[in-house]
Amino acid sequence: MQIEQIITQLESLRSSSDQLELGPSQRKESFEEVQSYSELFLSSLEKAKGYVAKEIGNLAITGEKKDLSEILKTYHSEVAQSGINAASPKHLGYIPGGGVYSAALADYIAAITNPYASVYYASPGAATIENEVIEWLKSVFSFPKEAVGTLCSGGSTSTLVAFTAARDHHQIKNERVPKSVVYLSEQVHHSSQKALRILGLEDVILRLVPLDANHRMIPSKLEKMLQEDIKVGLNPYLIVGTAGTTDTGAIDPLNELADIAQENNLWFHVDAAYGGMFILTSQKEKFSGIERADSLIVDPHKGLFLPYGVGAVLVKEAKDVLHSHYYTANYMQDGYQEELLQSPANLSAELTKHFRGLRVWLPLQLHGIEPFASCLEEKLLLTKYFRKKLESLGFCLGPEPELSVSYFWYPFESKSEEKNRLLMHEIHKDGRVFLSSSIIDSKFVIRLAILAFRTKKETIDLAVEMIEKCLKKVLEKES
Ligand SMILES: *Cc1c(COP(=O)(O)O)cnc(C)c1O
Repeated sequence: MQIEQIITQLESLRSSSDQLELGPSQRKESFEEVQSYSELFLSSLEKAKGYVAKEIGNLAITGEKKDLSEILKTYHSEVAQSGINAASPKHLGYIPGGGVYSAALADYIAAITNPYASVYYASPGAATIENEVIEWLKSVFSFPKEAVGTLCSGGSTSTLVAFTAARDHHQIKNERVPKSVVYLSEQVHHSSQKALRILGLEDVILRLVPLDANHRMIPSKLEKMLQEDIKVGLNPYLIVGTAGTTDTGAIDPLNELADIAQENNLWFHVDAAYGGMFILTSQKEKFSGIERADSLIVDPHKGLFLPYGVGAVLVKEAKDVLHSHYYTANYMQDGYQEELLQSPANLSAELTKHFRGLRVWLPLQLHGIEPFASCLEEKLLLTKYFRKKLESLGFCLGPEPELSVSYFWYPFESKSEEKNRLLMHEIHKDGRVFLSSSIIDSKFVIRLAILAFRTKKETIDLAVEMIEKCLKKVLEKES
């Protein structure tokens, strides 16, 4: 190809490729359109249902241009108005989501400026912000200065980093794998078992430690299992405690678990994905012992009310994380060495990644910590309020919750299980407020989890009114 031909072809491509760069007026216009859509969405939250069952229309990429207004319309009907409305105050199922507005602003800025946050040399400022978020979390959980951490996409990916560190620290490989033992709560989140499988540890032995009446691991049972395993020549290496189980909000006796781990040289991991941030509240002492964990995960997209896509992991010993995560390559030679621990990439499976530190850092800087703590405190109180209301309607309640998850069932005179399922069905059909169910101690129960930052007393009043109405329906069918 002659250079003239190249120039001609470049010119002809330009009018098409230039379309990717919006001009100032197009930017203003499209930004305003998105902004007004955001307002429409947010102002509709009060009336919108917590859950909408819906068949999804065609969202296929056709390759043809569409107007932004048309795209937003499609988004609203097919995405924003289908399934669980996770931005809604009325999401009280599973573990509710968040979406503070200031985090969206941070994401917008992160996307516009697009700094390379994974490598200190490439963007020292962005890497520092990522690291400062970790520093803040270390101080929140009283982790020592030498501890390290990284921001991941969520709790599950954070668990991968923690369990990799535990695996490498104890050299769980080859013939040791099938002899190695992991101790978990019966109420452990399934992401723990999933992480073990992903890490090639499918063949380790899993021991589910029995729970007390408050769904907390019983340390003496753990101790007994552990000693028996040691006696027969197995290799116990990991205890997974939970600070706030998904189903019941239980906090395992962290200090006792830490004692057992320490005495027997096991790795102690704490899953605080849901519950961790409640350490900012009056319930701080319930987390005593969490600072003794070798690794810990926490989900800012749960307890800090941030939009989905940010979890965090802290690990005491840097070398345990570096063993699997630190690599270098010729094309990276311009910037590594002294910045080893300053580059998030060295502690993570990710190299290039979304600059997610900003969506944690900016809201914390803008609002300060106080409103986050108050919002969490409010959720604890709302849980108590809900339970009092339900008790007065004749419902049976699970044990006094440690955090903001609680469960209940109605003591129907006959076929109680079936009728509680029917009640759940009626609640889903109503959909004004979304609750979910679970099986706890082999019993079908309805669960309520309060963690959406927009959930207020009015929401709980609405939930109670809805539950009462649905209960009436079930009782009417009974008679
Ligand atoms: C949500 C949750 C997880 C998984 O975290 P993701 O962010 O959904 O990947 C793990 N453990 C507990 C206790 C959780 O509540």
